[in-house]
Amino acid sequence: MGASMAAYNPRVRNGNARRKLIAWLKAQSFPCALCGKPINYGLPAKHPDSFECDEVVPVSRYWLRLYNAQQQCWAGPYATAEQAALARGNVQASHRKCNLEKSNKIISNENQSEKVIFRSRQW
Ligand SMILES: [Zn+2]
Repeated sequence: MGASMAAYNPRVRNGNARRKLIAWLKAQSFPCALCGKPINYGLPAKHPDSFECDEVVPVSRYWLRLYNAQQQCWAGPYATAEQAALARGNVQASHRKCNLEKSNKIISNENQSEKVIFRSRQW
């Protein structure tokens, strides 16, 4: 160990497993978890209405436990960021534009949530 956590991206490092997970999620043909409207799974990846994989428990906050309303199961808490990135119960289908909107909200609340979640990031 001893590798910097900041340089470690569990989504990229487990590319093959992650691709399989996303393929599985797409095959479920869920409507958008964030706005509830159907997703056109045939749209190109950059299109605002295209499918995007969203994590219920953010990979950077893998110790949280949150409800996955799309699959009707609990997500987390996970032991590692890697587990959070690769768990079926932690992914939900969303529109690209809805996912972007959600990420922006999380970033604007970032400083506040850091104070609430009291936990050291590294052992
Ligand atoms: Zn949506």
